[in-house]
Amino acid sequence: MIELKTPSAIEAMREAGRVVARALVAVREAAAVGASLADLDEVAHGVLRDTGAKSPFLNYLPSFAPTPFPAVTCASVNDVIVHGIPDGYRLRDGDLVSIDFGAELNGWTGDSAISFIVGSADPADVALIETAERALAAGIAAAVPGGRIGDVSAAIGSVIRAGGYGTPAGFGGHGIGRHMHEDPHVPNEGRAGRGLRLRAGLVIAIEPMLMAGGGHHYLVAPDGWALHTVDGSRAAHAEHTVAITEDGPRILTLP
Ligand code: MG
Ligand code: MG
Repeated sequence: MIELKTPSAIEAMREAGRVVARALVAVREAAAVGASLADLDEVAHGVLRDTGAKSPFLNYLPSFAPTPFPAVTCASVNDVIVHGIPDGYRLRDGDLVSIDFGAELNGWTGDSAISFIVGSADPADVALIETAERALAAGIAAAVPGGRIGDVSAAIGSVIRAGGYGTPAGFGGHGIGRHMHEDPHVPNEGRAGRGLRLRAGLVIAIEPMLMAGGGHHYLVAPDGWALHTVDGSRAAHAEHTVAITEDGPRILTLP
């Protein structure tokens, strides 16, 4: 079922989105060489405590997962595409890190992800991240009343393909509101003019996932959560929660 949000609900989601943005800024600032992924998760946890928000990630148990998610961030390093469990791994110079984070405040949810490089950057990794951000921007630009979900998907997919990158089959964005994952699914590839008609009040998380080695295949880690590239190539992820409004797309997870 697709639930359209009222303007006051969108304002409430904006407040949840501010918490998400604040946590991602704090995590990025803390992500120095030598910091562990668990350290970064604790930084994000601190923002939840400071703001009184809850984590929609902690103990999340979707149908594909064997165990509840044990943290408030997904921390996906290098060849991990998404859903990495933050552990004791300590960041090394040149690591490509994706952090995905959600917050629930006053019953409404925000969801956003960033990718960045720790220390010295390989130009190929910079290009991968910049393309993920451009794919996200293209998807957001297509999120307008009267358009279709396929327009968003096609916009994302064309940027990914033009860069020569791949995206894991079946994974993409989603409706969001009182729950982190609501209808509709927002694929990262699709055909313009197809799919659900976009209306003001629809709020979606748009989240391109890019694999430097191309293709659509991925591997699932033994923990049942982390998605890895098959060839060990690096991956990047970018995400915002976006409200479709009569005035155009409104990003709810900006600082
Ligand atoms: Mg997310
Ligand atoms: Mg999401």
